[in-house]
Amino acid sequence: MVGRGDAADFVFSASRRQAAGWDLKAVIAVNDNNGYPPVEPISAGLKGCCPRCGKGKLFAGFLKVAPRCENCGLDYSFADPADGPAIFVMLGMGFVVVALALWAEVSYNPPLWLHFAIWIPLTFVLCLPPLRLVKGVLITLQYAHRAEEGRIDR
Ligand SMILES: [Zn+2]
Repeated sequence: MVGRGDAADFVFSASRRQAAGWDLKAVIAVNDNNGYPPVEPISAGLKGCCPRCGKGKLFAGFLKVAPRCENCGLDYSFADPADGPAIFVMLGMGFVVVALALWAEVSYNPPLWLHFAIWIPLTFVLCLPPLRLVKGVLITLQYAHRAEEGRIDR
């Protein structure tokens, strides 16, 4: 009986991959990090660092992604988290702010102007810092998993 990881199993799965049209050299190239040691994507994203070398800066402004890594030269044009960061932050912080506003309304019944004066600034304070962190993590995860728009091979 051939177990998982045996040589025969490897040959079988390699031939099966070839039969399925996989290019083994392409699979190896995708897993190669261009000579850089592997970077832990979540910590690199939280620090706003390059997903390949882990040293260069990912951002050129608060949320603007730099054109390329200043350390290793990685082209950041692949980085497109779109509205992913906004959705995650909006859903998480929206839940927190709405829950607090409802609790304050039920407990203290403050005037409407006080609700606006508290919850609108608090929404900005709670949403802006995580937006940069989540955007960094989504870009480094996108790099680590080679996630990109689907393409049709012709
Ligand atoms: Zn880099």
